[in-house]
Amino acid sequence: MKQLIESLVILQEIDTQLQRLEALKGDLPNQVRHLNQELAEAEKNLADQEQKLMECRKEAGVNEIEMKAQEGKLKKYQSQLYEVKTNREYDAVTHEIESVKTEIGKKETRQLELMEWVESGQKTVEELKASMEKLRQEFERKKADLQKKQEATERDEIELKDKRDKALRGMDPKRLAAYERIRRAKNGLAMVPVVRNACGGCRKKLPPQRVLEIREGEKLFLCDVCGRMLIWDEKLSEQSE
Ligand SMILES: [Zn+2]
Repeated sequence: MKQLIESLVILQEIDTQLQRLEALKGDLPNQVRHLNQELAEAEKNLADQEQKLMECRKEAGVNEIEMKAQEGKLKKYQSQLYEVKTNREYDAVTHEIESVKTEIGKKETRQLELMEWVESGQKTVEELKASMEKLRQEFERKKADLQKKQEATERDEIELKDKRDKALRGMDPKRLAAYERIRRAKNGLAMVPVVRNACGGCRKKLPPQRVLEIREGEKLFLCDVCGRMLIWDEKLSEQSE
């Protein structure tokens, strides 16, 4: 029995380490994925801003040409004023002049707005480019870093699995099945030490007689509350009153 308990303790240590590696590895692709997503979002944002900037510039160019055309019209109407013969003609030309002036005023206002947008858009694009470059560098660095860590994890994992196979040799299949069942049900922890006369898993107090029996190690006891296997660990289980 002592032999079995010892083997199970070793198995639990290996499984705990494997679980830790798994947890670590589980987070690595997540981090890379997250950064990659951020980068894709930044790229899209930059493309949108560049598109907007381009449209503003285009509209400003068209607006400028239209403004010049309106100014040409205005000059034409103003010179016509000197050639009118009747009041009616005079009123008609004056009316045209007023409406062209209004049109030019609108276009001037729009042009100022567009120039402001172009200026702030240029700034935004520059800033986005700089922050995206930073993000890209971080992504590349972390990706390489995580890949390295993942490779290291894989090496440890192979080693541990090899150790596990060796630890399993000659173990009673029924006991092993019980161990596996408890481990799966109890978040990877099937074997727990007695800590201050209580179950190291769920803290349930143990009768002194039971503590003595666990310490002797002639029989494998399960915790009444959480069902984990209870063991004596010289470092962790010192009896205290
Ligand atoms: Zn317990």
